[in-house]
Amino acid sequence: MSDEMDLVGLVVRLYPTPEQEEIIKQNIGNARFVWNNLLDAQNQMEALFQGTQYIPYPNYITFNRYLNIMKETYSFLEESESSSLQQVCRDLGKAYRKNRKEKRVGKPKYKSKKNPKDACRIQQNNNNIKIHKNTVKIPTIDEKIHYRTSKEYKKLLKENKINHVTLKYHNGIYSASFNTKIHKDIYKKTNEHVGIDLGMKTLATLSTGLKIANVDLTYVESMIKKYQKQMSRREPGSNRYYKSQKRYWNWVNTKNNKIKDAYHKFTHFLVKKYDLICMEDLNIEGMRKNGKLSTKLQRIAWGKILRLIKDKCRRHGKALQQVGRFFPSSQICHKCGYRYTNLKIGQEKWNCPNCHTVNDRDINAAINILNEGERLFNQL
Ligand SMILES: [Zn+2]
Repeated sequence: MSDEMDLVGLVVRLYPTPEQEEIIKQNIGNARFVWNNLLDAQNQMEALFQGTQYIPYPNYITFNRYLNIMKETYSFLEESESSSLQQVCRDLGKAYRKNRKEKRVGKPKYKSKKNPKDACRIQQNNNNIKIHKNTVKIPTIDEKIHYRTSKEYKKLLKENKINHVTLKYHNGIYSASFNTKIHKDIYKKTNEHVGIDLGMKTLATLSTGLKIANVDLTYVESMIKKYQKQMSRREPGSNRYYKSQKRYWNWVNTKNNKIKDAYHKFTHFLVKKYDLICMEDLNIEGMRKNGKLSTKLQRIAWGKILRLIKDKCRRHGKALQQVGRFFPSSQICHKCGYRYTNLKIGQEKWNCPNCHTVNDRDINAAINILNEGERLFNQL
């Protein structure tokens, strides 16, 4: 255990009563309403004063001023926790700042109810956020909202100071993310390196020969399809429709959780066990443009894994080395360096004409990625 601290969001699932549900929805809705209206006000000012010096600077101070005027017109905003609306002003200011700093980040956009990131954030103030054994207290929502989470999270939530809480409603599920500082638990150095070949049939093959299978989603996907069909047969808005929609959402959530869980386990294993992780440069941007749906989905999966590895490497002081995607990792014999250009798509094994090694396509590629990754890493 080190003394370094890490900011994390501990997400727990909430089980609100119908009354509490209404208040949470109102708070999230108000945050969205304020965001969209602030954006509107700023756009109007920009259009009105185009080319002059009178355009209000899009930052927290400006937006807070707009907010105070809005509050006079829209009395329902008083029902929101006030820090959550100020947070919107801060977030929007930040979004504009990001747009100025990085050209590829677009201007802030209007928010829709359907956006899974739709949320509201409430600040800790004089202990107004409290965590008990089975309930949490969140200002303006209620004193006692039921929640469930792991023992580990409960312990962390009890022991550490909560900075703020973010409430979310997505796919029929209410959740709260408690922002807190916890001790960084850094993985030890192992002096081990690994190369990873990402594939279609198997998710990943390691240079050690270990193959990681794709998450088996056959059953979950069949259930999703089943309830999707059921929904399409039922009258939208009816009780029966609502019932199948609930089941459908549950299965969608199960699927997402299964994937998330598998990726976290895999990347956790990698970063814990290896100090240097070498993998192909995925060029996600270029990949989006072409390919079949299955290929596209697999690439999205790789992108997620890559992000998790990057994140965990940074957190634990380990290294990720990417290898150029034009590096012919599957064609080179890792034993003698002979380049075998006759390798066919889908061919799983090949015999090296030079040294007669029988190469497993994926393991051979992973070893080559490791060697090339080490070479590039040592050049730095
Ligand atoms: Zn060879």
